[in-house]
Amino acid sequence: MNTTPIIQLNNVSKHYSLTNEAGVSDIDISISKGDFVAIVGESGSGKSTLLKLIYGLLAPNAGEILFKGEHLKGPHERLIPGHESMKMVTQDFNLNLYARVYDNISGMLSNEDVHGKEQKTWEMMEFLGIDKLAEKRIVELSGGEQQRVAIARAIVTEPEVLLLDEPFSQIDAVLKTQLRADLRRLCSFLGITMILVSHDPTDGMTLADDMIIIKDGRIKERGRPSDIYSRPSHTYTASLLGNAFVLPSDEARSLGLKPSKGKVMIYPEWVQLKSTWSSRRYQVKDVFFKGFYEELLLEREHIKIRALNMQPGSVKKGETVQVLVSNFLEFD
Ligand code: ADP
Ligand code: MG
Repeated sequence: MNTTPIIQLNNVSKHYSLTNEAGVSDIDISISKGDFVAIVGESGSGKSTLLKLIYGLLAPNAGEILFKGEHLKGPHERLIPGHESMKMVTQDFNLNLYARVYDNISGMLSNEDVHGKEQKTWEMMEFLGIDKLAEKRIVELSGGEQQRVAIARAIVTEPEVLLLDEPFSQIDAVLKTQLRADLRRLCSFLGITMILVSHDPTDGMTLADDMIIIKDGRIKERGRPSDIYSRPSHTYTASLLGNAFVLPSDEARSLGLKPSKGKVMIYPEWVQLKSTWSSRRYQVKDVFFKGFYEELLLEREHIKIRALNMQPGSVKKGETVQVLVSNFLEFD
């Protein structure tokens, strides 16, 4: 078995100018063939910079990037931008707006095998459920449909790596769920290595086998989504992934918890409306309707926490509720 990572970044930094720290710093990542990796971070954390480095659109100031163990050429070492075995789909899609869907996709393939070109284009359109749109022009499509065309166009050339920069930013919730499922299919059926960046942690958590949390240009944490959610090494990860709240230990003690370290992190789902001998009274400061549940902002002795209420409508702002904190994690 070939164990050379398909992509490897060794101590890579990219700063946009000598005085400007912005960009990414000391990035070490290794990605195996066929993996689905999500890089999640706030806006400005360096996600797009990282993707451009991997694709070869930017050269690092320090460190090295390897593709299958070999030096990856930067923008000044190649004639055509971007690595030939990779494709990148960005937020602006880069489609030919006045050309038909079919031509946008087939235009990526050479004319040497006309029959093969036609067959592959149809296969790709069917795979992504856009075959019925073949004759339409891009300007006639919705954002979600355009997104699919952009993905079809990228994968029709059978790249080994597909890089996706915020692929869900322009589409609504229902399409998002469908597109997520399609991307997973692409990864598993076509064996394409996928690297997706998003500011929305749900994208990473629902899709990826491997999630990298990036903050201020540095990798904060990496692991299987379920592992880093349930056992985060940093409170930042928990706040980003699960809307956790973090309290200093003295505040946690006044809520009845008994931590031994400096800080306590609590996910809202660990806080229940329940009256038992150990529950405490809190005032409801705000109620956020979430569909089948509500998230409550609660306060006691000026300390704020969040809780889940599984019976929406049962409590009102200003009321007092009995709350039980069933679990918490401690941090230094
Ligand atoms: P993200 O994609 O996570 O929003 P970016 O990688 O686009 O973040 O940007 C990371 C940081 O680098 C930001 O502070 C941004 O302002 C800065 N930056 C990005 N591109 C440039 C550029 N071409 N010149 C100078 N600074 C840049
Ligand atoms: Mg970006």
